[in-house]
Amino acid sequence: MKINGSIVLKKGKEVSIQRYHPWIFSGAINSSDDTLKDGEWARIKESTGKVLGYGHYHQGTIALRVLSFGEQAPRDDFYKEKMDRCYQLRYAAGVITEQTNAYRLVHGEGDGLSGLIVDMYNGVAIVQVHSVGMYLDRELIVQALQSLYKDNLSTIYLKAPSASGDSRNDGYLFGMSAIPHIIQEHGYKFYVDWETGQKTGFFLDQRENRKLLGEYSKGKSVLNTFCYTGGFSIYALQAGASIVHSVDASEKAIALTKRNIELNGFDNEQHASYAIDTFEFFKDKKDQYDIIILDPPAFAKHKSAKHQAMKGYQRLNAEAFRVIKSGGIIFTFSCSQVVNRQLFYDTIVSAAIQSGRQIKVLHHLSQPADHPVSIYHPEGSYLKGLILYVE
Ligand code: SAH
Repeated sequence: MKINGSIVLKKGKEVSIQRYHPWIFSGAINSSDDTLKDGEWARIKESTGKVLGYGHYHQGTIALRVLSFGEQAPRDDFYKEKMDRCYQLRYAAGVITEQTNAYRLVHGEGDGLSGLIVDMYNGVAIVQVHSVGMYLDRELIVQALQSLYKDNLSTIYLKAPSASGDSRNDGYLFGMSAIPHIIQEHGYKFYVDWETGQKTGFFLDQRENRKLLGEYSKGKSVLNTFCYTGGFSIYALQAGASIVHSVDASEKAIALTKRNIELNGFDNEQHASYAIDTFEFFKDKKDQYDIIILDPPAFAKHKSAKHQAMKGYQRLNAEAFRVIKSGGIIFTFSCSQVVNRQLFYDTIVSAAIQSGRQIKVLHHLSQPADHPVSIYHPEGSYLKGLILYVE
């Protein structure tokens, strides 16, 4: 790997990298080579000159994303070696099976690759870069993916939301599979559109929670709010729900939900979908549903929006507590990184108090094994959920 220069840390600021934390903030840096440009690989040194690791440099709050720890420089096959390990983890965890060909191969810091996400959709790799460094290394990433999957890889598509500031750098790096593309999850089929869909095109992180919903749904009336392309709805229908209603504010998401229902061969009479704001939808409802799913988008993307987000979660959950039948069950989620598990829980408590109903916690939910969290980077744990029983 070509190393373009060095940065030297301030005295005492080496502790975090020694503990394998992947970020070095600009305030920890004493000096850096003038020649270093955004996105280039840099050597990280402590004040005594000892080399502590290597990573992508960037002039900004997170000045260095550490990708390799220790004195030894990363080898040319760095990405290949990393991705082989990523694949082994997914395989060992039982994520990749005959029934499931859609999974996250690379989960940023959780896989020691800060700034990089790779989602695999039945032979199609969607590479999402969140740093200039990963954007500049895209050719190496392509080579690593091709070496890992060989003939089983038909397409590589790049999404570069923050590295470029807009989506003009999005595009095919290899192949060009037709859209929408069909993937399989636990044997269910879904259409995925990575070009115009949200994030990389599908929410892989709810795979296990959808399965769990199936276990609760037999004979039940189910309301799936923020349904996107109908993930939870398909599992509920398969499990024998008496009725499933899917709600999403996006017309496009609802159109794909309908196609997914058909693709899996379900009777349309049991299913109805509504392109409407969830809060609007709730307005005239009461005692109609046995199960409600609340999976809103990240209400808070930045710390500054945290308070607003908590109000959003509280209002949404209070509405569901008001609407749900007695003896009903709520699957409630938050995917905001800045709202931690405790804060989310406290918000639910507050919504419960507001509703005045008796509510029990049945399960604590999280993200699946293909979204691993590094022990040294707890910030990577972002998906939180609860299954609640409402008396
Ligand atoms: N549960 C989904 C993922 C949800 S993503 C799955 O399993 O795939 C969040 C979704 O919320 C997006 O599809 C977005 O269009 C939708 N959304 C955002 N704000 C909304 C609102 N106010 N009312 C209804 N849907 C909304």
